Amino acid sequence: MAWFKKTRKPIGSNEKASRVPEGLWIKCPSCSRAIYHKELIEHHQVCAKCGHHFRMTAADRLKLLFDHGRWTEHDASLRSLDPLKFTDTKPYRTRLETSIKATGLNDAIIVGSGFIDEVPAVIASMEYTFIGGSMGVVVGEKITRAAERALGSRCPLVVVSCSGGARMMEGALSLMQMAKISAALGRLDRAGVPFVSILTDPTTGGVTASFAMLGDLNIAEPNALIGFAGPRVIEQTIRQKLPAGFQRSEFLVEKGFLDLIVDRRELKVTLARSLRVMMGLPPAAPKPAPPATLSAAPEEAAPSGG
Ligand SMILES: [Zn+2]
Repeated sequence: MAWFKKTRKPIGSNEKASRVPEGLWIKCPSCSRAIYHKELIEHHQVCAKCGHHFRMTAADRLKLLFDHGRWTEHDASLRSLDPLKFTDTKPYRTRLETSIKATGLNDAIIVGSGFIDEVPAVIASMEYTFIGGSMGVVVGEKITRAAERALGSRCPLVVVSCSGGARMMEGALSLMQMAKISAALGRLDRAGVPFVSILTDPTTGGVTASFAMLGDLNIAEPNALIGFAGPRVIEQTIRQKLPAGFQRSEFLVEKGFLDLIVDRRELKVTLARSLRVMMGLPPAAPKPAPPATLSAAPEEAAPSGG
């Protein structure tokens, strides 16, 4: 049937290759606006028009939260030994090597200590591009050590979650991390050292079911997917349509699962102020000139209200 054969070349096939290098413009998935890459970095990976929060790397997150973007890294050399010699579509060992090469990290988390608006703190930040930010023995061990470090120096612990949940290639060993981390957080709690959980898109599975929901303060980024099982799995199980916005930050705040939603551009200010209140520290002295990249207006020092 010659009718359906394309005899002519498709339109545009002779067009010259674009002179704009790949990745210089990024289309916002929410408002479809083309955003210049540099502008996106300046706004901490947030669309200036609609406020869509793009995913952030673990290192960028630490740069955003720590003063002068500087921190001391801990336990960077810990690596998974593939305890189950696991293979699915490809060997777990190969997956690990690929992710290590792609991210420059040894596992899906960076732990660092430094200052958040002059408050000493330990931050553990998860890396989604490393096997979906999944929690295996290394992630579990590093968060536990971060909690112990915070306890030892009596400075607050902040964990930024961005994870698909437990790492199934490590089977039950990954699930045991939930209990191990929770126990370490319990010791922190009994010692009266604050723990703040920051939930970003996505925070699901065993991470939500353990430490991400155990914060003295649970802060989420706008429109982040937060839940245990995915919405499709729940719908298939209960055979009911889920309400609009189910498992998004806004829905969860309304239902009392989270304490507050904070725009990333105001995250550091809010976090620092909360830590000061929880640690019983005086409010920070007003700064003479805020950094040019921060769009938030310098706020009055909050009165110490109990
Ligand atoms: Zn947008």
